[in-house]
Order: sequence, then C-alpha cells, then structure tokens
Amino acid sequence: MDALIHAFAGELNSGFPGTAVFFGEPMSRHTTFRIGGTVSLFAEPKSIEAFVWAVRELRRLKLPYLIVGNGSNLLFSQRPHELTVLSTARLDSVRVSGDSVISGAGVLLSRLGSAALEAGLTGLEFAHGIPGSLGGGIYMNAGAYGGELRDVVEAVTYLDGSGALRTVSGAECAFSYRHSRFTDTQDAILSASLRLRPGDPAAIRARMDELARRRREKQPLNYPSAGSAFKRPVGAYASQLIDEAGLKGLRVGGAQVSEKHAGFIVNTGGATFQDVTALMDQVKEKVYLHSGVTLEPEIRIVP
Ligand SMILES: Cc1cc2nc3c(=O)[nH]c(=O)nc-3n(C[C@H](O)[C@H](O)[C@H](O)COP(=O)(O)OP(=O)(O)OC[C@H]3O[C@@H](n4cnc5c(N)ncnc54)[C@H](O)[C@@H]3O)c2cc1C
Repeated sequence: MDALIHAFAGELNSGFPGTAVFFGEPMSRHTTFRIGGTVSLFAEPKSIEAFVWAVRELRRLKLPYLIVGNGSNLLFSQRPHELTVLSTARLDSVRVSGDSVISGAGVLLSRLGSAALEAGLTGLEFAHGIPGSLGGGIYMNAGAYGGELRDVVEAVTYLDGSGALRTVSGAECAFSYRHSRFTDTQDAILSASLRLRPGDPAAIRARMDELARRRREKQPLNYPSAGSAFKRPVGAYASQLIDEAGLKGLRVGGAQVSEKHAGFIVNTGGATFQDVTALMDQVKEKVYLHSGVTLEPEIRIVP
C-alpha cells in the first residue's frame, strides 16, 4: 500500500506541478476540532483537472480516500489512518456573472459572502459565518439563521461514483435538513454556481455584521470545535434539550459541553477522540433519559 501511495503522489506531483503532497500528515492540523491522527497522504490538487485525475486514479488503484474541505464538521480518530485525504483548498476560483457567483468547491463560505457583498448581491448573508467550504456546505446543506445553501444553489458540477463529470441543478440536489444527494456518496463536488439577487450593499453588510455579532455572543468561538455536535431533532432544539438535561459544562477529559452554547462540544485543550465520543455518548443517553428524544450526531466521525 505504501509503495502504491508514493507512486500515486509522485505522479500527481509531476503531472500537475504545484500540487502539494504531505506524507504522514496529522489531521489535527486540518480540522477545526484540532484532533486527529496521521493520514498516509494529504494532497491539495492544484486545479479541477488535477483533482479529477487524482480521484479517478485513487479509484483505479482501489486506494481509500476522503475529500476534505475546511475540516469544520469532521472528527478524526487518533490512530494512523491508511487513507489519502484530498483537500479542495486549491479549488479556489471565484467569479461573479450577473446575479450568479461561480466558485470552486474549496472556497470558504466567508469569502463567498464577501464576494457577494462586493458585487452588491444579497442571499448569502446567512452563510458568511459558517466556517466551511462551498463543497462541504453543499454536501450537508449547511445553514444558519433561517437560510440554507439549498436556497441559493443554482447548479453543481461533480465527479460521480463511476468517474463521470456531471452537472445538476439545485433542484436536483435533493436538499433537505443537513442532507443532499451527495451525502454519504462517492461523489466529489468540484464547483457550483449560486443564484443571488441584487441588493443594497449597506443592508447586506449590516445583516452580515448582525449575524457575526450573534455568533460571537452565543457561540464558544474561542475554543476548537466542529460546531453543533448533534442535529436538530424534529420539533426541538438539541442545545435546549442538552441544557434542560443539566449537561452544560459536563466534561470527559479535555472535551466539554460548552457552558456558553450547550449544542457545542469544545476542545478545552488536549481533548482526545475518545474524550469527545465518550462525551457525545453520555449526552445522548442523558438527553434520552430526560426527554425521550434520541439525538443524532451532526459531526462526521472518521473512526
Ligand atoms: C464554530 C463553528 C460554527 C459552525 N456553524 C455552523 C452553522 O451555523 N451551520 C452549519 O450548517 N454548520 C456549521 N458548522 C459546521 C461546518 O462548518 C459545516 O458543516 C460546513 O458546511 C462544513 O464544511 P467543510 O468544508 O469544513 O467540510 P468538511 O468538514 O471538510 O467535510 C464535511 C463532510 O463533507 C464532505 N465534503 C467536503 N467537501 C466535499 C466535496 N467538495 N465533495 C464531496 N464531499 C465533500 C467531507 O467528505 C465530509 O464528509 C460550524 C462549525 C464550526 C466549527
């Protein structure tokens, strides 16, 4: 396996000069939780062409791989992973055409929000404070403050499980709460266009500032985390159920149910994968005993 991975990395690097490859890279450096063991190879293909080649080649070689955006919804275990991680960080082009923003999958939602503001386009203010990439956001239909990516996605170009390039419309993405047609598939989202509306730049900026203020007030942004640990159950809020079960501040090792926002599990320093998962199990059990509701993780766990 090692020899195959080295040969793959060599070809990727020589075929697409400028593509960064790192062997034995710790995922704690690439996830907002700051937790995670090494992966065999971490690569940042430098273009869509390089990315497509890499995915097709990994499939041909039957090497396990995972696509990662900004790592803001991921919890990796601390064992060494025999895995190639393909980062979308370099799929980073953005352009505005009329009322649409056309972007590579690796572009951060915060940057897209700023691009929309500069172009005087409204509709993306809700996403400005979500610390993920466009691809990661589409994968799970990220949303906040009454908006979701499904409201703005016009079209998505992706590589499907058979290695074919496809483009689908937003309506064909089968978006639902924190879910899309891409969730739990082998599809690699490469780029997308977002359809916005002309708006008043001052009002757009005011809305973005207001949402940023609300985040700073309510969320423990000074600690590493992966955002809300659990999905919102039907008819309730996970954070409220956790709070009502008296679990704010509950700790396992370095992991803690945030005292500021019960929906977040934070890494207070040196938290391990086991700390976080044991704490999530405890929260799940105690909330069930208190309210009868079964919480489901929102964080993607790579065991
Ligand atoms: C402080 C904080 C606040 C947050 N607030 C919110 C919020 O308000 N609303 C919200 O919805 N989320 C929130 N999140 C969670 C997170 O930011 C979102 O889920 C975001 O959409 C994840 O994007 P990412 O690029 O970081 O994805 P990653 O964490 O890198 O990946 C997540 C999943 O998407 C897959 N994926 C990523 N890119 C691609 C691609 N190009 N093609 C195919 N699959 C891909 C990965 O394989 C993985 O399964 C928050 C997180 C933090 C840390």
